[in-house]
Amino acid sequence: MKNYLRNDLIDLVPYDEGDRTRIYKYKLDANESPWDIPERVKKALAKEIMSGGNFNRYPDSNCTLLRKYIGQYCNVFPEQVVVGSGSDEIIQILVTAFVNKGDYVICPTPSFGMYRIFTSISGGKSVEIPLAKNFQYDTENINSAINKHKPKLVFLCSPNNPTGNVIEVNQVLEITKNFDGIVVVDEAYGEFTQGTMISLLDECPNLVVLKTFSKALGLAGLRIGYCICAPELAKQISKVKPPYNVNSFSQKAAIMTLENQDIVKERISEILRQREFLYQTLKQIPGIDVYPSEANFLLIRVPNGTMTWKKLMDKGILVRNFSHNPHLENCLRVTVGDQMANQCFIDAMKEIMG
Ligand code: PMP
Repeated sequence: MKNYLRNDLIDLVPYDEGDRTRIYKYKLDANESPWDIPERVKKALAKEIMSGGNFNRYPDSNCTLLRKYIGQYCNVFPEQVVVGSGSDEIIQILVTAFVNKGDYVICPTPSFGMYRIFTSISGGKSVEIPLAKNFQYDTENINSAINKHKPKLVFLCSPNNPTGNVIEVNQVLEITKNFDGIVVVDEAYGEFTQGTMISLLDECPNLVVLKTFSKALGLAGLRIGYCICAPELAKQISKVKPPYNVNSFSQKAAIMTLENQDIVKERISEILRQREFLYQTLKQIPGIDVYPSEANFLLIRVPNGTMTWKKLMDKGILVRNFSHNPHLENCLRVTVGDQMANQCFIDAMKEIMG
């Protein structure tokens, strides 16, 4: 068949979500929560549906009530919040809002692939800036790339996916204050570390903090993400947001999740305990290098990444293989699961490493 796709997109490699046809006993490849939404939230949602979900009506396009809840959760005004169908959609909205054809976008590498993919789809040009030793952010490199390319958008990811390290507040300030464009700090994994760049918003009108309900809040399947920025900037961003982009069921689920933050907090604490257990135990296994992580996953380096990944799959454990990424030779990323999954992963790794 004739290729109808835009010429500049013919070579685009779309996001690889892995093989969903096989059933894995332990799915540790996508940094999701190991637990389904709490019973309490399920019951409240069911009650809401049974008493009339109004699903024949369009959802609230502005997510008015949810933005109020998010405002309280993040200690900002609702006017500072824009909600999307996953933070993926917010990344696309940001690129659409700020990047014209041919404009440059700075992305760290290795990092989350969607910054680059959405930039290509928009006709922008991504410039990948390698992280420094031990994956630390190198502000000098980023600032000189900004001076050279005059980008419209700079993406920073903290904790960074897939390396798990964070960027420091003073580094974000150094980049944002010297730059006449938009800086996005993606805090998809922010709940698993201390601190947030939200406190910089007052002094940085060009800063956008990106967050999601998919990780610590456990709603990956319901697709809720959001960004926080200055109210004026939020207005600009909202202009390009598709109407009704967040369905009404997901809006309700997100609100109810924020009404049950005690459970969320308990779950985050358990993930942090499990992360420490996984880190300390994996470190003891000869042949494995483990990188410290402030997220709900760990990056490990093994002698043969692809072979290890396949052997894990044979044992019903799915992790993410980064072996072919030039910066991540023989690296695998494993999501912190529940205790049982983590123990099985450790047992499998001990066996594989011989
Ligand atoms: N940012 C980062 C760093 C991620 O790792 C992910 C998901 N893997 C996302 C954004 C997108 O998440 P979602 O669309 O589910 O909010």
